[in-house]
Parts: sequence; structure tokens; C-alpha cells
Amino acid sequence: MTDRDKGLPGKPETIAAAHGVATDPAFGAVAPPLFLSSTYEFAGYEQPRRYDYGRAGNPTRDLLADALAQLEGGCGAVVTSSGMAALDLLAGRLRPDDLVLAPHDCYGGTMRLLKARAALGQFTLRFVDQGDIAAFDAALDDVPALVLIETPSNPLMRIVDVALLTEKAHAVGAEVAVDNTFLSPALQRPIALGADYVVHSTTKYINGHSDVIGGAVIAADPARADDLRQWANIVGSAGAPFDAWLTLRGLRTLFVRMERAQANAMAIARHLERHPAVARVHYPGLESHPGHAIAARQQSGFGAMLSFDLQGGSEAVRRFVAGVRVLTLAESLGGVESLIAHPATMTHADMGEEARTVAGIGDGLLRLSIGLEAEEDLIAGLDAGLAAVAAG
Ligand SMILES: *Cc1c(COP(=O)(O)O)cnc(C)c1O
Repeated sequence: MTDRDKGLPGKPETIAAAHGVATDPAFGAVAPPLFLSSTYEFAGYEQPRRYDYGRAGNPTRDLLADALAQLEGGCGAVVTSSGMAALDLLAGRLRPDDLVLAPHDCYGGTMRLLKARAALGQFTLRFVDQGDIAAFDAALDDVPALVLIETPSNPLMRIVDVALLTEKAHAVGAEVAVDNTFLSPALQRPIALGADYVVHSTTKYINGHSDVIGGAVIAADPARADDLRQWANIVGSAGAPFDAWLTLRGLRTLFVRMERAQANAMAIARHLERHPAVARVHYPGLESHPGHAIAARQQSGFGAMLSFDLQGGSEAVRRFVAGVRVLTLAESLGGVESLIAHPATMTHADMGEEARTVAGIGDGLLRLSIGLEAEEDLIAGLDAGLAAVAAG
């Protein structure tokens, strides 16, 4: 039985919780089965079935791809082995005379990928501050083939106006891809804002349990979706079936996880904003955040990522990290457990100090990925770190 036969109404929460549930014709399994087989029997001579080989297609992976395509309002999706493989699927299709326009503060791995491919002459590359509309307009004069957007940005949670940038990019004939990893389709749907592609590191909120590396590209129209599927088969970028199965299981609770995590994040942002050891809090949900108005308009929630500047730079950070409780010092984000990262020595260490200063990433900046623990425990854990800073 398909979802439609079951009369699922197709609201996003329902798709996440129940896409593919109880559609197993063999045994009536409620949880969709995991298909590990790499190859499929032909029905007879010259009679292939729907699946023939696991690189080209797999029922478990396709179920996740369909759910993500529906959640993002797209026409099809490809599930990849990582977020980087998803971005590379887009990058790998470009020609030597194509220009890629990327945000100056994009995810570090994305910057490394684009620079490495551009260094091989596979396309030309330009970074621009996409929050500076005059600079963005000027960059569009060079007629990019692909504009990559990331909002909120990492680690300062800068917000750009997806509908405005997309309209401008389309006017010069560029395709637009939005990395929606930081919010997930529960809180932001770039295709509805005009984007041609949405990219995810499903490693983060979509899987949500810090136990799978995966990615996806969702296309806004059927032709682009077909093209992506063909390229994924050509280059072999598909994710493993078991990873897709786990990720689908994580997706079931995406909406409730997001709701709880962002409520915790808002409470923490307000708490940190009042604390004397904190110089500045970067959270789009705060009225003080420069992107607050755009975020309120284009997102359906402010998300669960935030960062803050500790008074006193590296020494204060050292004391804070030694004293903090409940939150774990680790890279990555979007899991049920709260993590704390120090961009200058972790996620953004490769940038070099000068570039970090230009980007506004100081030595006292800490990034939080807020999870599902009790708000009181998280605040007590952070307060333990802040008390250690004050104690010297
Ligand atoms: C983590 C991340 C990626 C890369 O994804 P992987 O799954 O680690 O390969 C890309 N973009 C953003 C915004 C990310 O946070």
C-alpha cells in the first residue's frame, strides 16, 4: 500500500512520522524493512524489475529520498554518503567556464571542496559576503552558473534573504542551491523561496542522533532530479542502505526534536545575554540579532544553534571549557545531545587568525548545538563554565 492509499494527508509532520509506514506487501511490517541486497533478480529475459543494482537504486534509500523531497517541497532527491558528497554532486557537474558564487563564511568543508575543485580548473570560484547586497549584485555581473547560499551561517548565525538573492541570481540565469543543514525542512523550506536545489548534511538534524554520516540533494523540478540521479549513479555517491534506514528512523522525530531544541536554545540565549561574563550572543531569535527580521519572515522557527563571545578571549575559554557541565566539547551539531565547540581551535582552525578576525570569529567565541536535555540542566551546565571563568 502506498501513503496515498493509506489516506495520509501529507502535512510535513505526517510525512516525517509516517512516510512508508505499513507499506510492506510481504509481511505487513509497520516499520519499513531494510533492503541490503546489492543486486536484484530479473523477472525474466529482458525483464528488469524496478531495481537492478544498488548503486543505481535501493528501496530503503529511495524511501528516505522521497520523504526528504516531499518535506522540502521538491520533485526528487538523491541520498548521498555525506553532506560533502551531496555538495560535490552539484560541483562535479560544472564546466571549466562556469563560475560558482559562494558565501565568504560558508561551511569550512564546503570552502575546502570548492577551492580544491577550482584549483584543478574545474570551474572558477568567487566568495562574497551575501549579506552585502551591493557586493552580491556586483558579483552577479560576472554571471555565475551556480550560486550557493547558506543561512544561518556558521558560527555567527548570519541570516541572508533567500528569496531576494534567488530572484537576483535567476535574473542572470544562475542556478541556486541552498545548504539547509542548520535548520532542516522543519524550520526552513528554500524551494518555496525559489531555490533550485536544497542540500543537506543529514548527519545533523535530519538523522539527529550523532550516529550516521550522510547527505542529500533535493531538486525543485523533475528534470533536475533525474539529472542528479543519473550523476549519483555515474559517480557512485549514494549512501549505504543501513545509513538511510537509520536516518529515516531519526527523521520520524525531526519536528518534535526541533521544537524542543529551539525552545531550549531560546532560553539559553536569553540567559547568556544577561550574564556579565558574556560579551555578545549570536542567536537569530533575539531581537538584538541583525538577521532577526529576515529570520522571522523566512523561517518557521529560529533553530537550536547559537554562539556567544566570552569576555577575556582564549584564557576565559580554557577556564570555561574546563568548568562546563552537561554539554560536550565536540564538533558537529544537530544531535539529541548538546555540544559546545570553540571555532578558533576546532571548526575554523584552518582559516588562520587573520581570516578569522575579518570574519568576526574571535578567540572568545563559543558555538552551541542545543539538544533535548532539560533546560535547567543545560543552564546549570553553562553556568558552571561561566563561574569557572569568573573564579579565574
Ligand atoms: C556538516 C556540514 C556539511 C558537511 O556534511 P558532512 O555530512 O559532514 O559531510 C555541509 N554543510 C553544513 C552547513 C554542515 O554543517
